[in-house]
Amino acid sequence: MFELPEYITLADQMNITLYGKTIKEGSLGNSPHKFVWYNRSPQEFSALTRGKTIGKAYVKGRWLFIPLNPDYVLVFGECGGKILFHSTLDGIPQKYHLLVIFDDDTALSAMTQMWGAMELYRRGDELQRQYIRGMRLTPVEPDFTYEYFSSLIDECNRAEKRSVKGLLTQDQLIPGLGNAIAQDIMYNARLHPKHSIGDLTEEEKRRLFDSIQKTLDDVAGRGGRDDEYDLYGKKGGYTRILSKETESCMVCGTKVEKMQYLGGSTYYCPKCQRQ
Ligand SMILES: [Zn+2]
Repeated sequence: MFELPEYITLADQMNITLYGKTIKEGSLGNSPHKFVWYNRSPQEFSALTRGKTIGKAYVKGRWLFIPLNPDYVLVFGECGGKILFHSTLDGIPQKYHLLVIFDDDTALSAMTQMWGAMELYRRGDELQRQYIRGMRLTPVEPDFTYEYFSSLIDECNRAEKRSVKGLLTQDQLIPGLGNAIAQDIMYNARLHPKHSIGDLTEEEKRRLFDSIQKTLDDVAGRGGRDDEYDLYGKKGGYTRILSKETESCMVCGTKVEKMQYLGGSTYYCPKCQRQ
């Protein structure tokens, strides 16, 4: 599944490659998939996209917005899989969940894994969509400061007991982070996934905040993780610090441990990330 850095990479590449192109034909999937969320019929999608021009793409959390000018916005949300540019129509995959052909005979296709939203809104209406409406600040926004982060932790602590992994990955408190990046963030911050955020010292909070910023910068700077694909079908350049391939901690050499915790496996170093 794409996390924030992969979406940032896709948006940057779209702004280089797709910006200004005019749509000749838009189609929704030819490959049935009950977990792809559409808000338009294929006929509506085709009629509404025809003749529209691609604007500047942008990202919020795990949502990618592509203005279709005038008046519309194409939204990809919580997807994985492949969102690909095709420089010729020969490159279009046989199966797709969404396909846009441009008037210069290039194309964009999308094929998600697991699930994902592929929706078309009249500009402004997307802000009313569940998960977009009321989305909290994401860590790449300038207002996501240490003061904001610290107040978010205070707010959580007033509500219920919550762990570091819970803060990073649950309830969209910090939109855009998923299991994979959260794992490396916790490792870089030397915090155990189950560490209660109510017990964080000022220094640990600061370390966690810095680690969120640094890890995201690092992953986005390398074009996403190397187990995800970019717009051109190339794998990203970021190798996860912790994954099922990791045998031992690169700092202390201790065997990396795996536990099932809060929706998925979590790898951690039991020495560097003591509970
Ligand atoms: Zn270690």
